[in-house]
Amino acid sequence: MSNSSLELKNVTRKFKDMVALDALNLEVGAGELVALLGPSGCGKTTALRIVAGLDRADEGQVILKGKDINALPAHKRNMGMVFQAYSLFPNMTAAENVAFGLQMRRVSKNKRRDKANELLELVGLPTHAHRFTHQLSGGQQQRVALARALAIQPEVLLLDEPLSALDAKVRTNLREEIRRLQLSLGTTTIFVTHDQEEAMAVSDRVAVMNKGHIEQIDSPDVLYNSPATDFVAGFVGSMNRLRATKTGSSLFVIGRTVGASKGGPNVEGEVVALVRHESVRVKPDATSDILIVTRSFLGPVSRITCKLPDGDLVHSMMSSAESSSLRPGDPVKIELLDKELLFQRAE
Ligand code: ADP
Ligand code: MG
Repeated sequence: MSNSSLELKNVTRKFKDMVALDALNLEVGAGELVALLGPSGCGKTTALRIVAGLDRADEGQVILKGKDINALPAHKRNMGMVFQAYSLFPNMTAAENVAFGLQMRRVSKNKRRDKANELLELVGLPTHAHRFTHQLSGGQQQRVALARALAIQPEVLLLDEPLSALDAKVRTNLREEIRRLQLSLGTTTIFVTHDQEEAMAVSDRVAVMNKGHIEQIDSPDVLYNSPATDFVAGFVGSMNRLRATKTGSSLFVIGRTVGASKGGPNVEGEVVALVRHESVRVKPDATSDILIVTRSFLGPVSRITCKLPDGDLVHSMMSSAESSSLRPGDPVKIELLDKELLFQRAE
């Protein structure tokens, strides 16, 4: 990528025997927001700390706009960071927190005040300049932390699970605001999260991390529709794993034959079909021996769990309106909406 702003090349970090980062490669384009998505302990925070200069790689390079910055100390990297929570200075007001980085850079008092007000306005807190941390809600504190990170006009913005301590509603509102701000400022950003929905909602591309390396980096749509590895398929979205039989380009699954996605492993016979919950539709059928186990109402959609005659469970995500008459114990037939299914070797 010629306009890549930030690049990690073969970055390895070990803590004694523990390999936290295993020759990690990542390129983030100028103005791009990349989400770093992965389970707890896969190395996300370690990667961010190395980018910020708070930790050093044992091997590999961090490159910013074409320059190797491995040896550059954190305070010279001009990177804005927002952590999970509780990172504001408690003895300072919101405005003082936002202005902190500018004070370090010897910006005059008047300019600091103007800049702090401007940024508090930008994050939706124009009237909170004089509040102390304990007078702000969790969401407001994270807005101030964001304003503080942006005040220095960072080269790169690094967000480490900035929303994970917040309530669901505040979380979704704030993530959309972060994205809107990031787009309008054009700041190159890495957004770390373990929440796949959050990652896909805010980013240009999602990098799925597993055990210290990146399994796949793609746009949310490509990642969702064409997971490159078993790990990505299992981690992104909600998949059924159903016993199936493959013959040529056909899969036999839940009593019917469908297409097998091209690009799967070259195998015949017993395989596992990967079917997203929303690709399964359930309809009443008095003659069927498939039974509904539960229906969980989730608002616009409901999750319906069915039991096949062999005891295997199949999950369906359907509109609540369409599934409102379904009850536990009802016999149903199952339709698979995908014409071509992903599949794996049977274990
Ligand atoms: P994540 O942010 O994805 O949850 P981390 O980057 O925090 O993961 O950690 C990756 C792995 O490295 C974990 O197994 C963690 O225990 C280990 N680790 C991280 N920091 C240290 C440290 N300072 N000392 C020892 N082990 C560490
Ligand atoms: Mg972490």
